[in-house]
Amino acid sequence: MAQRPGFPARMDWSPHDTRIPKNIANSRDQIKATGRKDVKSGLTPAAQGHGLDSQAVRARMVRKLAEQGIAHPDLMAALGAVERHRFVDSALVNQAYEDTSLPIGLGQTISKPGVVARMIELLLQGHEEGQIRAGRVLEVGTGCGYQAAVLGRLAREVYSIERLRGLHDKARQNLRPFRLPNVHLLFGDGTQGYAKGAPYAGIIAAAGGNAVPQAWIDQLAVGGRIVAPMETASGQQALVVMDKLERGLKRSVLEAVHFVPLKSGIA
Ligand code: SAH
Repeated sequence: MAQRPGFPARMDWSPHDTRIPKNIANSRDQIKATGRKDVKSGLTPAAQGHGLDSQAVRARMVRKLAEQGIAHPDLMAALGAVERHRFVDSALVNQAYEDTSLPIGLGQTISKPGVVARMIELLLQGHEEGQIRAGRVLEVGTGCGYQAAVLGRLAREVYSIERLRGLHDKARQNLRPFRLPNVHLLFGDGTQGYAKGAPYAGIIAAAGGNAVPQAWIDQLAVGGRIVAPMETASGQQALVVMDKLERGLKRSVLEAVHFVPLKSGIA
């Protein structure tokens, strides 16, 4: 049987322990509660211990992703840095670094790390070195905000749109401690894209429809790439990559995937 990651079993902290709040890096209350803070890191000794433990579990997650073929160094660094356990419900924290999707409320799920990594790697591969770094990315389906945080470490600007108010608010809360000024959360229907941020070097969707919306194609820069789950001719959902070339669109259909549906309108 596969060994389960040690997180958070190795920690002297549990998400149910009310003495230490969940948003450790941002927690003034904790500093009040537990005393001294380290001048350099701004964290209390307990929080530092927590950070180190979760970093080791993340490093293991990244090693496993590397075994699955993920190789982009910047992406691996971003996945190693973003604390995925901060994006899931406290009852699910011990599964945060397993390669599994998890419920995030309102019937939606955070995609499994392997899928997030695969899609972002596809997005990066479609570009000349540095194009995403220097450009804007649109994410459709913010969900809990995890993928937006990873993208925020890779692209100059990230616009992430969510149609469910409850999740948009949750993502805002989740992302606050990360202080990513280049990640812009929007509440709206992502099938319309977000014209104000266009043109995009990349568009990535976390929900699957039956066609790539025309707005995404219009808002994509020439040389840009869309990575999205879509229903294919066989009725199955698969990852679709679309490149906007000078002379038109190039579409490739890759492996089968299972994403929540892309829906119109807001709720
Ligand atoms: N990237 C997210 C995954 C969330 S699941 C994460 O890291 O957690 C996909 C999300 O897409 C859901 O929250 C769903 O509400 C949202 N969604 C579906 N259709 C949408 C649309 N038309 N516009 C914006 N968001 C949409």
